Amino acid sequence: MSDTDRIREVLLQISELVRSVTQEGGTAEEQHFEEEPEGVEQQVAATSGCTLKVLPKRLVVKAAEVARKINPVNAPQPGPLAAMGVTLPLDPLRIALLTSKYWGPATRKLTVSFLESTPANLRARIVSHLNAWATNAGVSFVETGGTGDIRISRGPGGYWSYLGTDVKLIPTHLPTMNLQSFTMNTPESEYARVVRHEAGHTLGFPHEHMRRELVARIDPVKAYAYFLATQGWDKATVDQQVLTPLDDRSIFATPPDQTSIMCYQLPASITRDGQPIMGGFNINPTDAAFAGLIYPKFGFGEVKAGRKERVEQEEEFVPTMAQAYAQDWGAAQDPQHIM
Ligand SMILES: [Zn+2]
Repeated sequence: MSDTDRIREVLLQISELVRSVTQEGGTAEEQHFEEEPEGVEQQVAATSGCTLKVLPKRLVVKAAEVARKINPVNAPQPGPLAAMGVTLPLDPLRIALLTSKYWGPATRKLTVSFLESTPANLRARIVSHLNAWATNAGVSFVETGGTGDIRISRGPGGYWSYLGTDVKLIPTHLPTMNLQSFTMNTPESEYARVVRHEAGHTLGFPHEHMRRELVARIDPVKAYAYFLATQGWDKATVDQQVLTPLDDRSIFATPPDQTSIMCYQLPASITRDGQPIMGGFNINPTDAAFAGLIYPKFGFGEVKAGRKERVEQEEEFVPTMAQAYAQDWGAAQDPQHIM
């Protein structure tokens, strides 16, 4: 069996597993997951949203190459037409935008450092929440005294992270994750909601609320007004961060999950159906099970990320390259030896 066939077979197995997990309402792993007491969760307003940081445009194609080198299955998955020998021309930027950013399936330790002077107990508390994913997944975070793969700042700029392997493209003196003003006084519920969410981005998980089915529920006009008032975001930023659905070919075969930790809480006032999008406050059983599937704890070699396949609809797909949240440090500072 060729590598490609083996990967395809594993992809199918993963899709099946995920479907069984999500359709049967959870697995045995569910019981191991701590749940926040109800009520506490609902009091937390989504006043402090997260922005998923994107790379400067000049690095987008290079970042996709890096992602595919680290984990070949990050490449866009061929659809049914490709299986029939029909190839559609895609330019490198288009391919880059369809490339996911997951780390490879071998067990992995990502090193973590802090840009500001940070007390040991605070460093340990943050790292412990990053590692909430490691309960199920074979990726863990370890603090280093040197320069980490993941570099955390607690400076201004809100909460954000780069996506998965994109962190490789960031100059080493700059942060890959921002946790503005996190201290030992920050409530535990915020650690669970924010630090675990940003860790999810670092593991390559995009925003769940950008799934097509959830974006379709949002009224754009109301969303512009809401995010301008609550986040100070202009229209372009709302388009990029909230209203541009993920392309199905770059995501996983799980149904959209509005209680995923990767999903924002969005109020009923901006949805077309008048129902809120609940948003996640902690790693939920589906998140946990899924992380365990793409990052198997015991590194069973060939397991790869499984993505949804659908009929090619090239003409519908318009790549967006909003740069609202790209910080550009200048080409001279781009890392030279990435891998
Ligand atoms: Zn986010």
